[in-house]
Amino acid sequence: MSSEPSQGSTGDVSAPLSCTFCDCRLTEQLLALQSYPGAEATLPTAIPDHGGLTLCPDCASEVVELITSWHRHGQPPVGDDRSIGEGYRAIASTCSFCTNSCDDAVLGVELYRRIGDELPAYANYTLCENCQPVFGEFLENVRGQTEN
Ligand SMILES: [Zn+2]
Ligand SMILES: [Zn+2]
Repeated sequence: MSSEPSQGSTGDVSAPLSCTFCDCRLTEQLLALQSYPGAEATLPTAIPDHGGLTLCPDCASEVVELITSWHRHGQPPVGDDRSIGEGYRAIASTCSFCTNSCDDAVLGVELYRRIGDELPAYANYTLCENCQPVFGEFLENVRGQTEN
């Protein structure tokens, strides 16, 4: 209740929300991510078209584990002349996952709700072209597990 990241976040949490993967009704305990593809990138298929993921604690546990290993970077610059995805491209020189340099087709990921203390309350990450399908497949697997 004390650390609602209401400022600086472009994500908007409005109740009631349901889990993107298992469709259960979410409580205060949720993981929320917003993805912003750069101009030459596309969203992995496991992510809805609006780029938002809101996950219940069950679905989020493996995702939290993965993101804990990512390297966060500063907030992307926001300007009228470019998309948010392009802002991520401007600020990130290396991939948050594999740490290789990332160039054109970046995927920005904004974390704005967390579960537990493993992750910061708010963080920004960028994935390179190679890691985006890996992240997509990972999410597909997590979603597949919840459907059984
Ligand atoms: Zn769920
Ligand atoms: Zn990478």
